[in-house]
Order: sequence, then C-alpha cells, then structure tokens
Amino acid sequence: MTEDVASLLDHARSGDRGALARLLTLVERGGPPARALSRLTHPAGGRAYTVGITGAPGAGKSTLTNALIQEIRSGGGRVAVLAIDPSSPFSGGAILGDRVRMADHATDDGVFIRSMATRGHLGGLSLATLEGVRTLDATGWPWVLIETVGVGQVEVEVAGAADTTVVVVNPGWGDAVQANKAGLLEIADVFVINKADRPGVEETRRDLARMLDLTAAGGWRPPVLSTVAVTGAGVTELWAAIEAHRAHLSTSAQLESRRAARVSEELVHILAALLRERAQASGGPALEQLAVSVARRDLDPWTAAEQLLPPA
Ligand code: GDP
Repeated sequence: MTEDVASLLDHARSGDRGALARLLTLVERGGPPARALSRLTHPAGGRAYTVGITGAPGAGKSTLTNALIQEIRSGGGRVAVLAIDPSSPFSGGAILGDRVRMADHATDDGVFIRSMATRGHLGGLSLATLEGVRTLDATGWPWVLIETVGVGQVEVEVAGAADTTVVVVNPGWGDAVQANKAGLLEIADVFVINKADRPGVEETRRDLARMLDLTAAGGWRPPVLSTVAVTGAGVTELWAAIEAHRAHLSTSAQLESRRAARVSEELVHILAALLRERAQASGGPALEQLAVSVARRDLDPWTAAEQLLPPA
C-alpha cells in the first residue's frame, strides 16, 4: 500500500494532476493510506504558504478566491485551492462546483482546485485539512488557498491550518458584529469587506475598527480592505496585504511559532484519533453506548472516558 502511495506521489510531483487528485481522495478518506502519505509528504514540506479565506456562507469567498487566483497568476505564481466542505460525506473527487470552477482554469497548469469533504476522516476536519495542505506542499504548490464551503462553525478550525487568515464580511449593519460573535475577529490577519459595490461599507469599516481598537494588542493590526470580487476591484490591494502579512510573520519569527503551535494542535488531534482507534480495537465498550449511560446519569463522564481508554 505504501508503495502505491509512493508511486502516486512521484507521479503527482512530476505534474500528473490525476495522481494528485487520487492522493487527495486518500486524504479525504483518512486511515492507513493517508497516514502513509503523511509520512512521505511531511519531510518534503514547509515551503508552501497557506492563506485561509473564511467568512459566512454567501459572503463571496469562492468568488474572491477565483479573483485571487487571477491575481496570483498575473504575477506568475502557481496556486492550489483546497475547498474544505465539512458537511458533505466523502465526495470521491470532482464535485460539480469543482468542475465549474476548474473550467475557468482548465488550460492553466499553474492552477489546481480541489474540494475535500472531511466527514469521513477519523481525525476530523483539521487533520484532513492539514494533510491536504501537506500533500499540495510536497507536490510543489508554493501557494495554497484554503476556503471553507458550506455552513457550520468550522471557520475557526480551518483557519488554524493557514499562515494568513483572511476574514470576509459584507457591508451593512451587523455583519462585523456577527463575525465577532463567530470568533472570526481573533483569527483575522486581514479583513475584507466584499460586495463593496453595496451600501454600508464605511459603517462596517468603522465597526471593525472599533472592535479592533478593543482587541488588538501591539504587533500586527489587521488591515481592513474592501473588494468587489465579481469585478476584481480591490483584489490587487488584498493580495498586497496578504504578502505584507507574510513578510511581517517571516521577519518577526512568528511564522515559525505559529507553525509550531499548529503542530502541537495536530499532535493532540492525532493522539485522540489513535486512542479512539486503540480503544475500539481492544474490544472495550463502545463510546456511543457509554454516552447513553452518561446521559442517563448512570455514569459520570470522567469514569466513562477512563473506561474507554485502551488497556495500558
Ligand atoms: P461564498 O458562499 O462565500 O463562497 O460566496 P460566493 O462566492 O458563492 O458568492 C455568493 C454570491 O455573491 C454570488 O451570487 C456572487 O456572484 C455574489 N458576489 C460575490 N462577490 C460579490 C461582490 O463583490 N458584489 C456583488 N454584488 N455580489 C458578489
């Protein structure tokens, strides 16, 4: 199995997009092949820079991502996009949305777009995202855009995988407040008010500035930009802000500390996944069964968790 993965990786490295797509399908499924892949991709990684594009559904993330692709391409950069869809079951690759989006870049070797459904992955969304990024990194994509698809409180989790996180809001009363409530304010490195062709941009800018005044502490203050993703207006400035943030992280050594913090989180996720797996393999009680007992108050959660631990 490892051999298959290794040869797929070789092919993907030499530009075989079908092989790359198959590797990402393995990541999506999780399990031993995905782990074998991680062992191979990790030593070859660390060069890609990841940018998370996050915000409420409908804010214009996918339109903005497309506009960013154009911007990166016009500067000669190569870019891969990982669209993370936590709500769908495993998709097996090209969903309709991918095909539509890929059509814009069908003849362009410098662009790769792929959705990943992560529901089937034992380690959950964050592990699948990190493994997906690592695969793109190891196959030579210098820029990886991570976009969240669908509804859910996953934005924060996905943002954890990115070096620079762009939070997309829309003009109008309350959008900035919603973003704050969703925990997006803390994770934002760059704010974008997209759909700036609509009224309310200045109010939203003021709301964001006020919130940043309360929370921002020294160092990098997230800039607030405005874009019209459908026309591309403001996208050059957005890309410049992303590059400025990258430069800030690199010169202040924060890039390394951020990445180290990410690895710590990843290890905790892996540990939890391994423990669950071993507990299941050791034939102990099923988590779902114990959960019922805890819910009925026959058992307290700590005792239940101890019963779930694999034997030492
Ligand atoms: P996502 O769910 O965040 O990925 O949002 P989409 O990119 O799918 O965009 C949602 C809708 O907003 C689509 O109909 C887009 O055409 C539209 N849209 C995106 N950007 C803009 C913009 O800057 N101005 C306007 N007026 N509409 C936009």
